[in-house]
Amino acid sequence: MLPTDCRRTLGKLSALIGHTPLLELCYTHDGVPGRIFAKCEQMNLTGSIKDRMALSILDHAYREGLIQPDDTIIEVTSGNTGIAFAALGAALGHRVEIYMPDWMSRERVDIIRSYGATVVPVTREAGGFVGALRLVDELADTRSHVFLPLQFANQANVDAHRLGTGVELTQQLASEGLRPDAFVAGVGTGGTIMGVGLHLRKTHPLARVHPVEPAESPVLSTGCKVGTHRIQGISDEFIPAIVDLSLLDRPIPVSDGDSILMAQKLAASLGLAVGISSGCNFLAALAVQKELGPNSIVATVFSDDNKKYLSTGLLQSEPLRDHYLSPGVQLKSLRVIAAPRPA
Ligand code: PMP
Repeated sequence: MLPTDCRRTLGKLSALIGHTPLLELCYTHDGVPGRIFAKCEQMNLTGSIKDRMALSILDHAYREGLIQPDDTIIEVTSGNTGIAFAALGAALGHRVEIYMPDWMSRERVDIIRSYGATVVPVTREAGGFVGALRLVDELADTRSHVFLPLQFANQANVDAHRLGTGVELTQQLASEGLRPDAFVAGVGTGGTIMGVGLHLRKTHPLARVHPVEPAESPVLSTGCKVGTHRIQGISDEFIPAIVDLSLLDRPIPVSDGDSILMAQKLAASLGLAVGISSGCNFLAALAVQKELGPNSIVATVFSDDNKKYLSTGLLQSEPLRDHYLSPGVQLKSLRVIAAPRPA
């Protein structure tokens, strides 16, 4: 394929990425009613929010001549990014190599391989996530014809959400006569929270923008690798380069067990089979709504669906703990606010 053909293919794929519906979820917590808004990111081409980032990075790279059609795409990821690059890479004719900690779910590895990409597992002994980043860095010096998306440092990741997710969210709320009071999102690369956050800082300067982290591994609030957790896709052991905490409100901690219970409840009560980080995001939104009041407009994202977690704790019985929020949540109804038309 020529670079112009690749750009044309990306243009076609863009019809399958983004422009997601917004859900209004009515609930009670300990009897107090409220509503949370969530973008349905599980409806993207490969089933996760990371398609937005992969499309944006490849589009930017082709526009700027940073990638050639015979380059191998090499990325470090905890899963969804690998799936997104594997899919887009296949459509564009690129080879794709994914370096991934070896404790990620089996489904993620199999899905990446199903697109013809190669998965290189990295053990804890070899440094896990940080070790994988180091490995790819070294590799880039020794191999030619490679393209490194560098999602943790690439501004095109932030732009995917500043120009996409964030704009869609405010348009969808405005179509209902609403303005956001707060947006919350778990931080993996931080592309979602920084991109939507930058858009809101411009359009709704008073809106709060809270990053979310696992209570068991509070990397954002401590600044260092600490603890382990079960919310795959967020808190990858370090603060990514694209995350500027000075532009954000304080991190909201959510327990991994509570996130699992909430994701289970979204599936069992409303038929929304979402992943663990979506349960986490819902609970963070609930915590912020408790601070701002029941009439506040608090929004988040459902980053992916549950299919990649069938072999994980998501499908097992999770013990209740006293401080969890999810046991007090009753999900009452959902309403869909249609996606805005692509420009
Ligand atoms: N949830 C899941 C399931 C993810 O895969 C990711 C991306 N790693 C995130 C949340 C966080 O998104 P971001 O990288 O934009 O911070």
